[in-house]
Amino acid sequence: MPGKQSRDIGTALRRGAMGRCPNCGVGQIFQGYLTLCPACAYCDQNLHAHAPAAGPAFMTVALLGLIIGPLLWVAGTVFPPDSLALALVGIVVLTILALLLLRVVKGAMLGYLWTLGLNNLRKDEQ
Ligand SMILES: [Zn+2]
Repeated sequence: MPGKQSRDIGTALRRGAMGRCPNCGVGQIFQGYLTLCPACAYCDQNLHAHAPAAGPAFMTVALLGLIIGPLLWVAGTVFPPDSLALALVGIVVLTILALLLLRVVKGAMLGYLWTLGLNNLRKDEQ
């Protein structure tokens, strides 16, 4: 396993966003939609130790706010304002974008936490 100094943040973010282990880039980090594997099947990197908790949800909501804000402004100025249609389309678009972004953001945040060496293990577990 490479030392803490050799952890490249860009590589770890990209590997995590792709659902790959930030350490080796080969093993999967998810076993299902959002459930993390306990460890990488390829390099045995402990993945649960770097689980990002609620961070991906907050980051996904923030990103959706940045994306959907301008889209709502454009939709409100270009198309005639139909509140019901705008609400229905907005709910569907937000749901789809949230489901797509959440997994990517969780993987990227796991890679980021792994790069920094931050984990949720107690001192006697490390
Ligand atoms: Zn691995």
